[in-house]
Amino acid sequence: MSPPADPSTPPASRRVRVRRVPDRGRYDKEVVHEILDATFLCHLGFVQQGQPYVIPTLFGRQDDALLIHGSAASRALQTATALPVCVTVTHLDGLVLARSLFNHSANYRSVMVLGQATEVEDATEKSAALQVISEHIIPGRWEEARAPNAKELRATTVLRLDLQESSAKIRTGPPVDDEEDLGLPVWAGVIPLTVHAGEPRRDPLVAEGVPLPRSVARWKTGPGDLAV
Ligand SMILES: Cc1cc2nc3c(=O)[nH]c(=O)nc-3n(C[C@H](O)[C@H](O)[C@H](O)COP(=O)(O)OP(=O)(O)OC[C@H]3O[C@@H](n4cnc5c(N)ncnc54)[C@H](O)[C@@H]3O)c2cc1C
Repeated sequence: MSPPADPSTPPASRRVRVRRVPDRGRYDKEVVHEILDATFLCHLGFVQQGQPYVIPTLFGRQDDALLIHGSAASRALQTATALPVCVTVTHLDGLVLARSLFNHSANYRSVMVLGQATEVEDATEKSAALQVISEHIIPGRWEEARAPNAKELRATTVLRLDLQESSAKIRTGPPVDDEEDLGLPVWAGVIPLTVHAGEPRRDPLVAEGVPLPRSVARWKTGPGDLAV
C-alpha cells in the first residue's frame, strides 16, 4: 500500500467526503488507483423504477476512468447509461477482534465512485476498452486468445465511468478497545485475510502440447504481485 496520502487532498464533492471516521478517508488519485488496480471485481449500484440493484461485475481501469463490460442485453448496463451509478470496490484485509464485541471491526481498503456512466460506442474505442479490461484482469491474455469478432463486439456493451468523484477508505492496524477493557483476559488482535490463486487447471479439451501461457504463469503469484 502507498504511504499515507497527503491529508490536505480534498474530496471532489461533499457527497464523497467520508464523514464516519473521516481520518480513514483518502481522495488522492494514486491511492484510489492503487486500490482499484489490486483487484478487478466491483459492485455496480443503480436505481431502476425506485428499486436499488447492486451487481457484482468485473472492471478495468484506464487512466482516471473505470471500464465495465457486459452483455448488451444486460439490464444493469442498459440502465447505467441513463442513470447515475455508484460503484464500490473492496479488499477485506483482516478481521479485527477486540476485547469487547462492540469494538470488533475489519481491516479493509475500499473505493466508492459516484457518477454517470456513459457507453463507449465507437467500435475502435470499444475494442480498446475491452483490451484494457482484459489486461487489467490478466495481463498478456489479450495477445494469447482469439480477439473478439464484429458480432461479439455488437453483443457487448462497454461503459466508462469517470473516477473524478471518488473516495477511498482504509482501515489498518489492531483493534481500538475502550481504556477500561484493556485489562480484560480476552484475546484480541487481527486475523489477516488475503486472496490466493490456486494451481491452474487445464481444460481437458486443450490440444496436446499447448503449453501453460505466460499470462497464466505470471498470474499464479496473484494479480497484485506479478512475477514479471
Ligand atoms: C469490508 C468492510 C466492512 C465494513 N463493515 C462495516 C460494518 O459492519 N458496519 C459499519 O457501520 N461500517 C462498516 N464498514 C464501513 C462502511 O463502508 C461505511 O464507511 C460506514 O458504514 C459509514 O457509512 P456512511 O454512509 O455513514 O458513511 P459516510 O461517511 O457518511 O459516507 C460519505 C461518503 O464517504 C465515502 N465513503 C463512505 N464509506 C466508504 C468506504 N467504505 N469506502 C470508500 N468511500 C466511502 C463515500 O464517498 C460516501 O458517499 C465496512 C467497510 C468495509 C470495506
